[in-house]
Amino acid sequence: KKRKRGGAVLFNSDHEQRINSDAKIESVLKQAELENELSVVFQPIVDIRDLGTIGFEALARWNSPVLGKVSPACFIPIAERAGIVGSLTRPLLKKALAAASLWDTSMRLSFNLSAHDLNSNDGLLALIGIIESSGFDPQRLDLEITETALAHDFEQVKRSVEVLRRLGCGISLDDFGTGYSSLTRLHALPLTKFKIDRSFVKDLHQRPASYKIVKSLLALSTEMALECVIEGVETQEELAALKALGGTSVQGYLFSPPLPESQAREFAARHRRP
Ligand code: C2E
Ligand code: CA
Ligand code: CA
Ligand code: CA
Repeated sequence: KKRKRGGAVLFNSDHEQRINSDAKIESVLKQAELENELSVVFQPIVDIRDLGTIGFEALARWNSPVLGKVSPACFIPIAERAGIVGSLTRPLLKKALAAASLWDTSMRLSFNLSAHDLNSNDGLLALIGIIESSGFDPQRLDLEITETALAHDFEQVKRSVEVLRRLGCGISLDDFGTGYSSLTRLHALPLTKFKIDRSFVKDLHQRPASYKIVKSLLALSTEMALECVIEGVETQEELAALKALGGTSVQGYLFSPPLPESQAREFAARHRRP
């Protein structure tokens, strides 16, 4: 960032601009025809040994006639703050389950939830209704929640997660290591999996601190008998280091970017597990 006219002033105007554009995005989002404008893409999660496809993570895409393509890293937090993320989650989950119902039954689907999807009974009931009416086996569904989601209303989120777990869904802790949760708290949740954040994976073969963190997280997953997916793998060097550390499931641009549904099916057909 340029600091020509004094950092503080420029920072203020940048900040204001961001607030303005957030407000704009929020107002467009509230009027959007979400069923049409939202879509889902699917990023493969592969077995580190043979690179066979284990399943896919569903990722939201918004193509707004007003704003063009907006990244989920931008509009999801805005929808969360505006208290309307449920109205996005529901069509997204329907679309993701409809696509995944066409896959081979060995494939799993991962789907991202927000704290707000889990902190009300109505929200929870809506999710269960969508899962049940899709006919998709909940045993093949992994629901991803972030540590930051747990910062809000932990007890209510925990109760919701327990209901979903009893329904058969896997519960996956996303971006593990980037939040502030204590291990005690995590232990109180019926987790089946965690995902190591890509910030620890970047150049881990050259970064002793990252390397040690990934190593410890993998040891923790073994210790807690939880599966572990390593995200954001971009290079062969990272992959080799992760293999040597005993990683099992990986996801990242090295294997594939998120794909539209028909290409996801082609990917799974080309990269089968033996
Ligand atoms: P996330 O759940 O951590 O998803 C992983 C993000 O990393 C995705 O970004 C994915 O495209 C990107 N990614 C995958 N492989 C690589 C790689 O090798 N290198 C790099 N640099 N990035 C990689 P995306 O699709 O832009 O999504 C961003 C975030 O938005 C997600 O992070 C998730 O927190 C949120 N999000 C996306 N879809 C949904 C949704 O349907 N519901 C909710 N609640 N949140 C969603
Ligand atoms: Ca995720
Ligand atoms: Ca993640
Ligand atoms: Ca993330």
